[in-house]
Amino acid sequence: MPAPTRIGLFGGTFDPPHVGHLVTAVNVRHALALDLVVLMVANVPWQKAGSRPITPAADRLAMVEAAVADVPGLVAGRAEIDAGGPSYTADTLAFLSSEYPHSTLFTIVGDDAAAGFETWERYTEVAARSQLVVVDRPGDPVVLPDRYPWIHVEVPHLDVSSTDLRARARDGRPLNYLVTDPVLEVIAARGLYAEVV
Ligand code: ATP
Ligand code: MG
Repeated sequence: MPAPTRIGLFGGTFDPPHVGHLVTAVNVRHALALDLVVLMVANVPWQKAGSRPITPAADRLAMVEAAVADVPGLVAGRAEIDAGGPSYTADTLAFLSSEYPHSTLFTIVGDDAAAGFETWERYTEVAARSQLVVVDRPGDPVVLPDRYPWIHVEVPHLDVSSTDLRARARDGRPLNYLVTDPVLEVIAARGLYAEVV
């Protein structure tokens, strides 16, 4: 098989991965004719660390692996976990460039993440190494930093967030159809979210 040439990097905490993530990944892949979309699991999400307990990286990776297992063109990324320490997209893009030297890279984000792009570590490097792709999320419209050539991809607006799903799980409300069945199975098997504070 030839090496993939158009690769999307879709990073997140994925605590847990939900249908909003999957719908985004498959639609961006389709719209931009990407060979691969990597759902890269953040090791220590530095913008979230300290504000709440984060599910261990190994559990989040297992859920993402379950989510993408039967989806063509989507893969779970573990490079940030393997690297250890805080996860910076600039470093992950450098890693992907070395893994796939002839690839065009795309950094995929929801608009909430895009709005804060200039707070990212070495964001100019991110913009130089990849084409920036944004999808809208439900909620208040955000202002995108306008000096970058954002590629806007239309996806269904699904009002789903991991934060809301964790609250539902904590209350014993069902996550069915908000996460896929294989993800539900990992959550049940590992006893995740029931005791989240
Ligand atoms: P949390 O509530 O814990 O922040 P989240 O649902 O925002 O979780 P993240 O792991 O923070 O999920 O997000 C990873 C990426 O997916 C971000 O770029 C985010 O904007 C995007 N994203 C998350 N949910 C959606 C959604 N429903 N539709 C489109 N993009 C989404
Ligand atoms: Mg988020």
